[in-house]
Amino acid sequence: MPVLTRSASSFIDGAWVEGNGPSASRFNPSAPGDVVTTYRQADSQLLERAVDAAATAGPAWDKLGILARGRILAAAAALIRERGEQIAQTMTAEHGKPLTESRMEVEASADTFDYHAWSARNPVGTEYPSSHPEERILTIRRPLGIVGVITPWNFPLQIPAWKITPALLHGNTVVWKSASHTPGVSGLLMGILSEAGIPAGVANLLLGPGSLGSELVSHPKVAAVTFTGSVPVGHHIRDIVSRRGAKLQMELGGHNAALILPDADVELAATSVVNAAMGSTGQKCTATRRIILVGDGHEEFLKLVQKKVAGLILGPGSDRSVQIGPIISPSARDEVMAAIDLAVAEGGEVLAQAHVPQTAGNYVPPTVLSGPPTMTICQEEVFGPVVTVLRAATLTEAIALANNTRFGLTASVFTSDERAIRQCLDHLEAGLVKVNAPSTGSELHAPFGGLKDSTFPGPREQNSTAAAAFFTIEKTAYLRLAPGTES
Ligand code: NAP
Ligand code: MG
Repeated sequence: MPVLTRSASSFIDGAWVEGNGPSASRFNPSAPGDVVTTYRQADSQLLERAVDAAATAGPAWDKLGILARGRILAAAAALIRERGEQIAQTMTAEHGKPLTESRMEVEASADTFDYHAWSARNPVGTEYPSSHPEERILTIRRPLGIVGVITPWNFPLQIPAWKITPALLHGNTVVWKSASHTPGVSGLLMGILSEAGIPAGVANLLLGPGSLGSELVSHPKVAAVTFTGSVPVGHHIRDIVSRRGAKLQMELGGHNAALILPDADVELAATSVVNAAMGSTGQKCTATRRIILVGDGHEEFLKLVQKKVAGLILGPGSDRSVQIGPIISPSARDEVMAAIDLAVAEGGEVLAQAHVPQTAGNYVPPTVLSGPPTMTICQEEVFGPVVTVLRAATLTEAIALANNTRFGLTASVFTSDERAIRQCLDHLEAGLVKVNAPSTGSELHAPFGGLKDSTFPGPREQNSTAAAAFFTIEKTAYLRLAPGTES
């Protein structure tokens, strides 16, 4: 199914609205001359309209009740599956990831809608005993109001699904500023929400630049903000939202380590770290960025990693044989290449590199480096297919090295030594610790989130309990009967 150039629009109060800002085009990162999506950017005026529409639509959406809202989300899940191929093709054309990965993301996003739709049936509160004989104490959940949603381009459907679905389920209305690199995917999701029966004004999409996101999070009527993206933008948002006392949830970058112990299964460890470091062209927050070899040796493991990386097939994501697509933009490519050059200048050595196709496209060679842990690349998140091999004499040293960044998203450890596993679980500073598994990937029904600079301020997304806690206000009701109404 060829993806033709299509135009996308913002969606406000149940209607597609052309932006009144400058025109923007999304080029195919595998064929940089090809325009995939064009749109006009929304500006402050449209943001105001979207916020007004979301405010007006709130009371009726709340009144509809959680089960009815859940049914609409289930209808959206079915439409995502029905349109799956179109979404996947658009995703690959805009983002560059291999079609198989786009299809998996579509499926996972539909599952996310289904999961939250079903969690509508979960208990919503707790009953507590009272010291007063006929009093009942109950907790109840109420919507927050308008939720501002800001999402990155790397999972252009899944991350919006994690945020928008529970926000809507719990009776909130949404103003979503999606990533500028993936406007077509955002538009397709928005159309599906509307077709599934989300009433006008309940979910609104703004296609616009980062500065519009800044205005969204500053808006006094936006009661809560959920953001996934980079640390600098996250800190900017944190400062604005905390200052005005609104609720905030953020998932930021990572610098995830994989610890390879002397007894590790070499094939499993090598396959896992190569997939986790290079998959999606290294553009996952959970990608393995550092491999820490514990103890001496590991020649066999290193040889296997080098062979696997050197043999990776790069090319357009639409080509079936391709394992690694292009990187998101020419400037992102330049940043990754500059980071590799800097590592070499700081004493690093290139251990393996894959071939880059000769065709046009934002290609970066998947690269394995080794060198001193003082290299900048061991601290800064380089959002591309680059991994650095470090060494530690003992497990304690390896854990200290793994923890020696400001990030704390995921980590993985390869061993069958139960004591070592416990030590890692207890002391690795990471929100997710994967044992004998890649640092990437997570189940949508398990809590997901990082520590340190990877997450702020702590409540985790994805899992229904965490989502209910973030996307609602909890009140405690003390219920006594009026005199004369005792049973
Ligand atoms: P980004 O540059 O921070 O952008 C994320 C979103 O914020 C985009 O919609 C962007 O809009 C918007 N934005 C940019 N400047 C803004 C501002 N001043 N105020 C408000 N919003 C603003 O991140 P990215 O490059 O899209 O994504 C890569 C980053 O996301 C990486 O650091 C990665 O680790 C992180 N990430 C984290 C997780 C996690 O769960 N922890 C998951 C995925 C990605 P534009 O697109 O218009 O610039
Ligand atoms: Mg960015």
